[in-house]
Amino acid sequence: MAQCEARLGQVCGIPSATQAAWSALAAVLAVDGPAPCEEGDPAAWWPAHGDDPDDVALAVRCCADCPARVECLAFALAADERDGIWGGLDRAQRLALARPMAA
Ligand code: SF4
Repeated sequence: MAQCEARLGQVCGIPSATQAAWSALAAVLAVDGPAPCEEGDPAAWWPAHGDDPDDVALAVRCCADCPARVECLAFALAADERDGIWGGLDRAQRLALARPMAA
């Protein structure tokens, strides 16, 4: 749990607009966690800081098995997370997903 708490802690100071999405993510992890990113190498989820494509691919596969994948992605979209893998998607994939919603 420590790695995920540290990772999730990096987005502490959450804007009020994203509190609901954050709470939903935290609620799922509290019941069904730990998330795979809690137990894996944090660098795999932060390709900007550890750009090994094999690590990123591993993170994406781990996210596919995460019980909080939907909530994680919803939070990242709500928070406009710029870095990292969230809900199994990288930034470019999240931007492509969010673009139609913003229009
Ligand atoms: S979907 Fe991926 S990044 Fe999000 S909590 Fe689960 S394992 Fe971590």
